[in-house]
Amino acid sequence: MATSTHTKKDFTRIARDLAADLRLLESSDKLHRDVDISPKENGSVQLRIRALETLPREVRDGVYVAFSAHHLPALADALRDMNGTQLEAITNLVQILSLLPEPRANPYLRRFLRNTEAMDTIPSFLAMTLSGLIPHYVKEPSTLGHIFGMFIHILQWCDPSMGHDSLAPIHPQPRQMLLDRINELTSHSVWQDASELDQAGARSLVMILEECQKDKPGKEKGYYLRTMRKELERMCGEGVCGVCQAEAKVGCSKCRTVRYCGAECQKEDWGKHKIVCYDVSF
Ligand SMILES: [Zn+2]
Ligand SMILES: [Zn+2]
Repeated sequence: MATSTHTKKDFTRIARDLAADLRLLESSDKLHRDVDISPKENGSVQLRIRALETLPREVRDGVYVAFSAHHLPALADALRDMNGTQLEAITNLVQILSLLPEPRANPYLRRFLRNTEAMDTIPSFLAMTLSGLIPHYVKEPSTLGHIFGMFIHILQWCDPSMGHDSLAPIHPQPRQMLLDRINELTSHSVWQDASELDQAGARSLVMILEECQKDKPGKEKGYYLRTMRKELERMCGEGVCGVCQAEAKVGCSKCRTVRYCGAECQKEDWGKHKIVCYDVSF
C-alpha cells in the first residue's frame, strides 16, 4: 500500500535526522577525544527528542524501530570512543537507548543486544559510567526507570560470557558498583516518592543482579540469565512461524528478524511485514 510505504520512508528519514544530530552518520564530524558536545548542540538534540515525544505512540515507536535497524552499530561505536569527560554526549546516547521500544517489541534491538561482537565492552562501560551518574544525569523524557529497564534488557539479552566471570555480560566490578549505587539510592527516605516505574525497575534490576551471580551447582556458568533469555525468546515467538506457529524453517533474508514454516506463510505475511522490514548490517 502506498500509505504504509510512505510512512516507513518517513520513519527512516526522521531516525536519520536524529542520528545526524547525534553525530552517528558516516558523514558526521566525530567528537574529538576529551571534548564534550556544546550546550547548543545538546539543546538541539534534546529538542528533537522532545519533539518525538509529542508524536503519536505508534509513529514514535516506528521512528525508534527504524533507528534501531539503522543506527545502533554507530551508536555503540560512538560510546566505545567516549570517556568520562564527555558526559553530555554519553547521556544523550544512553537516553536514546533507554527510549527505544523494548527488545520484546523491537526485533532489531534484540538482534543487536545478542550480537556479542557489536555489543563488545558496552555493558560494562555503561554500568561503570552510569553508576557514578545515577540519579543526577537522567535526561527528561527518559527516567531512572527507563535506565534500569535498559540494564535489565542488557542482562537478559547480551551473552553472559561477555563478563569476566561468565555469569553476566557486565564484569563483576561494575556490576557490584551498579548494585551498590541502586541500594544506596533506594535506602534514602526520598525514594518513597519515586514513581512506580522507577521503584519497580530498581527492584527488578537488583533482583536480577543478585540472582545471576549465585552459584547453581551442576549448571553451566550464566545459567540463570541464559534460562531467562530462552524463555523470553519463546515468548517472542522465535523458532516458530510468524504466521501459523509451526516450526520455522526459513527466515526473511532482508531483515533476518522473522521466520516462517515455508514460502506460503512468508508470502501471506509480506503485506504486513514489509512495513517493519529493514535491511540490517548486524
Ligand atoms: Zn507458517
Ligand atoms: Zn524482513
